[in-house]
Amino acid sequence: MVMSNNDKKYVIPPAPQPYIEVAGASEVFPVRRIWCVGRNYIEHIREMGQDERAPPFFFAKPADAIVHDGQTVPYPSLTKDMHHEVELVVALKSGGRNIPVAKANDTIYGYAVGIDLTRRDLQIASRDVKRPWEIGKAFDGSAPCGPIMPASKIGHPTKGKITLKVNGQIRQDGDLNQLIWNVPETISKLSEMVALEAGDIIMTGTPAGVAATVAGDKIECECEGVGKLTVTIGQPLK
Ligand code: MN
Repeated sequence: MVMSNNDKKYVIPPAPQPYIEVAGASEVFPVRRIWCVGRNYIEHIREMGQDERAPPFFFAKPADAIVHDGQTVPYPSLTKDMHHEVELVVALKSGGRNIPVAKANDTIYGYAVGIDLTRRDLQIASRDVKRPWEIGKAFDGSAPCGPIMPASKIGHPTKGKITLKVNGQIRQDGDLNQLIWNVPETISKLSEMVALEAGDIIMTGTPAGVAATVAGDKIECECEGVGKLTVTIGQPLK
């Protein structure tokens, strides 16, 4: 077990450390930052009407946007079009700057399946006036994530079905072998932009089939060989 250490005295209580469960373990994975890849599956780029040859880009969510397996996500404020985006999540045990593609897998602790929940109407409104995406992407509860499966147990998956069902109906059905920028390339590229660190996680982009979800929906995700995630969309907070 690893305890945090910091000898500072705080003027207000520090926020709890966000975390993700680890499959088969009582210890949990401490989340430092949540990075997300935009446009990393060709069919999703087509459904969003975007340039198929542009390189992917990154945005971020706050670490405390994590929602755990089995929990309820309150329907967020201000939107009438919250979309699900099922994604492979990569959790880092180390980091660095300018990580070579060939060394990138060495930084990976494990993998999970997560959802990049998106207030699509607000994201598109921001995009259209060239404003930042935070209000569409980085809201409270916007990052449900299932338990992390350590790479020490499964290696580094490069193929396998990734699916999302709403109330038992398949909505998204992709395969990890459809990633335009694979996981090592994604880590390498992101490490050119920021110094990656242990505890950072990366949501690697969504396959086609994104659509709206509403209060009462049961969302079930699975990534073959990696794990599962089930969350329920709840009523808006009063
Ligand atoms: Mn996404």
